[in-house]
Amino acid sequence: MSNLELEQLREKVDAVNLQILSLINERASVIQDIGKLKEKQGVDRYDPLRERHMLNLLKDNNDGPLEQKTVDHIFKEIFKSALNMQEEDTRKALLVSRKKKAEDTVITINGEQVGAGDPSFIFGPCAVESQEQVSKVAEAIGAKGLKMIRGGAYKPRTSPYDFQGLGLDGLKMLKKAADQYNLAVVSEIVTPGHLEAALDYVDVVQVGARNMQNFELLKAVGSINKPVLLKRGMSATIEEFINAAEYIIASGNENIILCERGIRTYEKATRNTLDISAVPILKQETHLPVFVDVTHSTGRRDLLLPAAKAAIAIGADGVMAEVHPDPAVALSDAQQQMDLGQFDEYYDALMKFMKQYELKI
Ligand code: PEP
Ligand code: MN
Repeated sequence: MSNLELEQLREKVDAVNLQILSLINERASVIQDIGKLKEKQGVDRYDPLRERHMLNLLKDNNDGPLEQKTVDHIFKEIFKSALNMQEEDTRKALLVSRKKKAEDTVITINGEQVGAGDPSFIFGPCAVESQEQVSKVAEAIGAKGLKMIRGGAYKPRTSPYDFQGLGLDGLKMLKKAADQYNLAVVSEIVTPGHLEAALDYVDVVQVGARNMQNFELLKAVGSINKPVLLKRGMSATIEEFINAAEYIIASGNENIILCERGIRTYEKATRNTLDISAVPILKQETHLPVFVDVTHSTGRRDLLLPAAKAAIAIGADGVMAEVHPDPAVALSDAQQQMDLGQFDEYYDALMKFMKQYELKI
C-alpha cells in the first residue's frame, strides 16, 4: 500500500469518525427530548424493553463486518451514556444544586453569617442532662464569643434501654442556658409531631443521621422558617444526601446546613469513617453551607483536632464537636466528648492552626 493510499484511507476514517460524532450527538439530543417528555408524563426513564427492541433491530440489520456482540457492546455504551446524560440534567435541575444557583447560600444565625467564608462552630453536649450541665457548657462557649450551642433532648439511641433524652424539658433547659450567654440553640427533632412545640426553644433544627431519609420529617422541617442542620445518613451516598436536602428545599426552606458525620465502613479504628472528600463535593454540587461533625465521625477524642483541621483546610464552613463538663459520667457518648479544659485547648489550637495557614478568621 502506498503512503498516498494510506493517507486517503486515514482521511476517510477521520471523516467517518466525524459523521459518527455528529450522529451520536443528534441521537443524544433526541434522547433529551424524550427525557423531557417522559418527565412530564412522570414515566421512568430507563426502559429495558425498549432497549431490547433497539438491540434486536440492530441485529436484524447488521451486515458486518462487525460481530454482533461488538455491535451490542458499542450500542449499550451509547444507550448508557444517554441515560447518564439525563441523570446529569436531573441533577442540574435540583434546587439545591450549584448549577441552579451559583452563589453560596449564607444563613444568618444569631448574627453570625454561616457559609460566608469564616468557619462557624457548634459545640455542646451530646445530650442535655441537667440545667447545671448545659449552663456550664454554655458559659464556656459564650466566653469564646461563639454564637451557637448544641444539645440533644430527643436522643435517637441504638438501644431502647439507653437514655432517651429529657424531651421538651431538656429543650427548656438548653434555651435557658443559651439565653444567658446569648447563644442560638441547635437541637435534634426526630418526629414532625415534636416540631411545633420545639420551635419555641430551638433556633436550628437538627435532622439526625438516622432520620436523613425520614421524608415526612424532611417535608415538615421544609415548611418551617428556621434553619435546618441536616446530617448525612450513616449509609447514605452523597447523591442520597443531596436528595434529602432537596426534600427540605422543595418544601420551601432554603436555609439548610449539610453536615458530614462519617459513614459506616469496614474500618473499626474509628466509630465511623469521616468522608472528608464529601465536603468539596457537596460544595461543588450544592450552594449550601457544609459542616463536619468531628465527634460522631471519629468517635475518638484524640482525633477531634486533626479532623477539624482537615475539615477547615478542605473548605468546610463549620465544625461541630461535643463538649461536656464531665464526660466520664455523660449519659451518652462518654468516650468522645471533650471536657471544658480540653475544649479550651482544642479551640485555641484550632484558632492557631487557622491563623498559621491563613484559613480565614
Ligand atoms: C447528634 O449529633 O447528636 C447525633 C446523634 O449525631 P448523628 O445523628 O450524626 O449520629
Ligand atoms: Mn453524641
